[in-house]
Amino acid sequence: MVAEAIDRSAGLYDPELEAMSADRRRAYHAERLRAAVKHAYDHSPHFRRRIEDADLNPVAITQVHDLARLPVLKKSTLPQLQKQAPPFGGLLAAPLSEVSRIYQSPGPLHEPEGREPDYWRMARAFYAGGFRAGDLVQVTFAYHLSPGGWICDGGLRALGCVIVPAGVGNTELQVELLRDLRIAGYVGTAAFLSTLITKAEEMGWDVVKDLCLRVASVSGAMMAESMRQMMADRYRLMIRQIYAIGDLGLVGYECQKASGMHIADDLILQIVDPRSGRELAVGEPGEVVVTVFDPLYPLIRFGTGDLSAVTTDPCGCGRTSARLTRIMGRVDEVTKIKGMFVHPRQVDEVVAAFSEVLRYQVIVRLKGHDDQMAFLIELASGVEPEPLLTKLRDKTKDLLQITANIEVVPPGTIAEGAKKILDERRWD
Ligand SMILES: [Zn+2]
Repeated sequence: MVAEAIDRSAGLYDPELEAMSADRRRAYHAERLRAAVKHAYDHSPHFRRRIEDADLNPVAITQVHDLARLPVLKKSTLPQLQKQAPPFGGLLAAPLSEVSRIYQSPGPLHEPEGREPDYWRMARAFYAGGFRAGDLVQVTFAYHLSPGGWICDGGLRALGCVIVPAGVGNTELQVELLRDLRIAGYVGTAAFLSTLITKAEEMGWDVVKDLCLRVASVSGAMMAESMRQMMADRYRLMIRQIYAIGDLGLVGYECQKASGMHIADDLILQIVDPRSGRELAVGEPGEVVVTVFDPLYPLIRFGTGDLSAVTTDPCGCGRTSARLTRIMGRVDEVTKIKGMFVHPRQVDEVVAAFSEVLRYQVIVRLKGHDDQMAFLIELASGVEPEPLLTKLRDKTKDLLQITANIEVVPPGTIAEGAKKILDERRWD
């Protein structure tokens, strides 16, 4: 069997929502926000307390920008809240009988699932990733305790896919399933997809001829672009990423253009300064803060702890929503340099293109009241510093939006396993 080379990614799942004008989207968000805030205030003891502690009342929040008046509910505080008032810390805004399942993620953190089909709003994300009704899909996220398996299951069922709930592990059995059932779609982590393909080749199979895999939807960790390209070239497999979290389901998803993750239309996403809660400008990295309109578990101004940035450049797919450029890491690992939040993974990204750089470290110092960013690098022997240093400086400016002093240091200066960003600023 040869994998079909067909375009499964054209069109929209829900044009009414996905192709809204900016004005229409603003009005839609405001209308749903007002209803969600009123409902949460009336039914969630925790939310009522937060509103009152902020000296607000529900009618004070009528537009998206009014959300700035409400403190961010940090995901990291949920385990403690839930412990104090089990099972959901007073955040549930409906009787417990409205919950169909309760999950547990590390924390421990309990997540409720409602009773309606595709409770996590995932179908459109799979559609954008090329999944279609009738496709056989193998889901390799866990189906017990943590919600990953069921979150995907709900979306795929709503789309009309035929699901094989394979769960995690059992590599050899899973590879056989892919072949025997002629599975077209894979759902899971990029790492496990790679493990399955490697296993198939070890078993002497030709992945293109012996398997029918055409589309894959990965989440859990950001995928390397090189892997996406390799899978497309070598195996004719289209991989798209989904950003979903257990507390509130779908947040963002890639379309066929794969140039960032479209923000789901039925929620409000803001990028904020993780310390002050102030909303940041388009393009600036900060914490992803989400408000969902869910009457069961209304997470309003929910700080995910994830670091990302938004682009509003138009996308060729026809969807008009803004896009998350990528998930850069966790906000508790960032250092603020010259007003920008920088994650160690972004430093890795700067250096990734320069194989001549053996070790590297960013040191942040204070000069007067200004931040100075020194980028220390150790070079392979015989490498001329120029034009490498100029290129590295440009790349830093490009990716971090900060001008750095690049300093070449002798081999052995940077200790093995040293922190990628060393903050030497002292304000006392
Ligand atoms: Zn798009």
